[in-house]
Amino acid sequence: MLCTTTREGYDCNFMTPQGCSFNGGTCHPAVEACQGCDRTITVGEMVFCRSYPDPAAKWRYGNCNFATHVKGETQEKPKLNPLKASKRASRGQ
Ligand code: SF4
Repeated sequence: MLCTTTREGYDCNFMTPQGCSFNGGTCHPAVEACQGCDRTITVGEMVFCRSYPDPAAKWRYGNCNFATHVKGETQEKPKLNPLKASKRASRGQ
């Protein structure tokens, strides 16, 4: 449903016929870490996130998983087949 309050005119899943259903009745402004993200939108003098109403919460425990300006910094471990690893270990390799 289209927002009629903070981000007027933008589609939002939290908007209801009774108004904004998000915690506090409004979305929260973007945080410093959001700078450079393609999902930010500027409404008046405020910058908001198009995808999430509380950007600070998305950064609380690490990088925002919606961020377009942060590349994945986690290195995937090579996958081990436990059956093959067991055979290899039994052969002493
Ligand atoms: S997607 Fe994440 S980094 Fe981008 S604006 Fe939203 S909260 Fe900020």
